Amino acid sequence: MKQDVSEKITSLAKRRGFVFPSSEIYGGAGATWDFGPLGVELKRNVKDAWWRTMVQLRDDVVGLDGAILMHPRVWEASGHVENFTDPLVECRNCRKRFRLDDLPKGEELAAAWRAKKLDLSGVSCPNCGERKLADPRQFNLMFKTFVGPVEDTASIAWLRPETAQSIFVDFENIQQTTRKKLPFGIAQIGKAFRNEITPGNFIFRSREFEQMEMQYFTRPSDAPRFYDEWKETRLAWHVEQGIPREKMRFRDHADDERAHYAAAATDIQFAFPFGWNEFEGIHYRTDYDLRRHSEFSGKNLEYFDDVANERFIPHVVETSVGADRATYAILCAAYDEEPDKEGTRVVLRLRPHLAPYKVAVLPLSKNERLVPLAREVWSKIRPAFMSTYDETQAIGRRYRRQDEIGTPLCVTVDFVSLDDQQVTIRERDSMSQIRVAIADLVPALREKLGA
Ligand code: ATP
Repeated sequence: MKQDVSEKITSLAKRRGFVFPSSEIYGGAGATWDFGPLGVELKRNVKDAWWRTMVQLRDDVVGLDGAILMHPRVWEASGHVENFTDPLVECRNCRKRFRLDDLPKGEELAAAWRAKKLDLSGVSCPNCGERKLADPRQFNLMFKTFVGPVEDTASIAWLRPETAQSIFVDFENIQQTTRKKLPFGIAQIGKAFRNEITPGNFIFRSREFEQMEMQYFTRPSDAPRFYDEWKETRLAWHVEQGIPREKMRFRDHADDERAHYAAAATDIQFAFPFGWNEFEGIHYRTDYDLRRHSEFSGKNLEYFDDVANERFIPHVVETSVGADRATYAILCAAYDEEPDKEGTRVVLRLRPHLAPYKVAVLPLSKNERLVPLAREVWSKIRPAFMSTYDETQAIGRRYRRQDEIGTPLCVTVDFVSLDDQQVTIRERDSMSQIRVAIADLVPALREKLGA
């Protein structure tokens, strides 16, 4: 039944134009996805909500849009060339490859491996069933390419596996141009790429995805306090996006499993239909990144604290959430089914600010007297709300179509509207209906949307 929900969401996403496999007519392109007309609106709304909360409503965080291609030394300094690896296990029988922690009881196996006590001789290959899994080897997840016409070591470029590094590399430029004092943050939304060994679960794990990351620079002694604060702030943000508190939990990383840059780390996990899994990471990165970039670039990235009259390298608390994974969690949390007289009503109970369309305008029928008024109503509300218009099929079917894509309000134009210049507003969640004068429609919709 649980698995069923993810299948239903995947099929709804495909059928209604939220998400398609990339390059589908060629058989797909290995765990990359295209966001269709509704998906691009939903994901953009998620990103806008994050940007608004993290940048626009805060006076201590500024934004950045850094380049994806960076100097190759960046990734040596950051430790990614050496350490950004996953343990890869290959079956000697069927040659299929797995990430160690994606095998059944993967967390236990990964812990045993870290403790140098792993024994795979009793573990069956999930593909062929043979007990012929080879010992893990480290596999670097970064995509490598070359800049310019010559493919040699001097022209290597990496597709960034996280957006954070341009924030560190631009730290001095941003601090000087904005004259921000500690503590302050730099936020960024952008594409990241990882050559994942076992991508899957729809858009949960793909090879190209978007991250929404914020690095908060602090005095070293303040960092633990901000780490705790950011955990709560980020959890509260997810609740505002409609994810119930009880469907989320923190999972602190054990000392031996943390990323190479982190002194403390926790995942915010969501109860996905296929189990509890991370969709945001909060990391205390210490002064690791700025210190390493100082060493590798030769540029002193110390901060001068004019209150204490001292120089030091700031410490960093990072919040990092995948835009695609967060969108998926929001879709899972919003998906609902309820019995109705036609069988089942599927409703995406998206918060209005996230819904692709806020309003759908529907003439009761395609009648030639109704359509012009309905179109006129649509043209009135269009500048105020992202909205759509639909005149095909029976009205009940059209309400269901809007429920299924999460449109919070429908406006119906009927024959009485021609005489009294009033229309019906129908709510997605309660299905209740009220009559409103066309002249008052925009403020009435605004009030209902809480916009
Ligand atoms: P995982 O353990 O799932 O591989 P991670 O711990 O490597 O994730 P981070 O490096 O902390 O992930 O990245 C921060 C966020 O970026 C994750 O919480 C997730 O939302 C997103 N993310 C990471 N890898 C992917 C991916 N392959 N596809 C989609 N989103 C991803």
